[in-house]
Amino acid sequence: MRDFSDDILALSLNTATLGHNLDGFGAGLSPEQVVDECAARGYGGITFWRRELGGRAHEIGRRVRNAGMQVTGLCRTPYITGRDAGTMDDIRCSVDDAAALGTEILTIVTGGSQPESKGVLESQRILADRVAAIAPYAADRNVKLALEPLNPMFGGNRTCIMTVQDAISVCDIAGCENVGIAVDVYHVWWDANLEESLGRASGRIFGYHLCDWLEDTSDMLLDRGMMGDGVADLKSIRKWVEGSGYDGPCEVEIFSAANWWLRPPGEVLDEIVRRFKTVC
Ligand code: ZN
Repeated sequence: MRDFSDDILALSLNTATLGHNLDGFGAGLSPEQVVDECAARGYGGITFWRRELGGRAHEIGRRVRNAGMQVTGLCRTPYITGRDAGTMDDIRCSVDDAAALGTEILTIVTGGSQPESKGVLESQRILADRVAAIAPYAADRNVKLALEPLNPMFGGNRTCIMTVQDAISVCDIAGCENVGIAVDVYHVWWDANLEESLGRASGRIFGYHLCDWLEDTSDMLLDRGMMGDGVADLKSIRKWVEGSGYDGPCEVEIFSAANWWLRPPGEVLDEIVRRFKTVC
């Protein structure tokens, strides 16, 4: 297991941590300001949301690399299943954005259950077919697709994969080398079979997302905790993730409307560094 106590090169900021994934939150830093703030603290990378790119994906990607960091990912494709699914053209556009930004990783939040279907299996099969249809287009652009299982409470309208095991099943059906999994501790910390599932994900983990699950969480979407403030077993989860061969970035992704999004970004970024070195 990697030692981060004095090495934060693997640390990446997901800009949602500064409120950049939703309108009306956060201090509103520009991508350039985020790059400067992260570079000044020694972060290794940044993951952006599509809404921040404003047609400047090339420019922003270059700015990150010139600052000595990597673009560790892009959030995210439109939904692929469910009543709010995007078209295949919409999905290809998100691949183009990732390629323009110069990142290898495009995250997929799958979307919910297919209209008229019950349960998750039929939706998972349709998801696998659609992901397999888009995967060659992504591979041609050097982009990997990372399926992110979400906590089961997001089933119905946001996801049809709720566990690492679900995500592995969809990867197996899709059968494409550039389709894998993003493991987010917020979504998987509760799973008593997690060690076993991650053991079966060898070579398939494309991303690892950090935050914490607060004991008394007040909002399922927007009350994620800072690492160390909650009940997720962060060290064990990272040990299992790395045990499956993952040695990539650890991306801090904290949606926190009533706490961290209200603080000055510099304070948040400093605290992340402290927590990353000690509790992750
Ligand atoms: Zn995530």
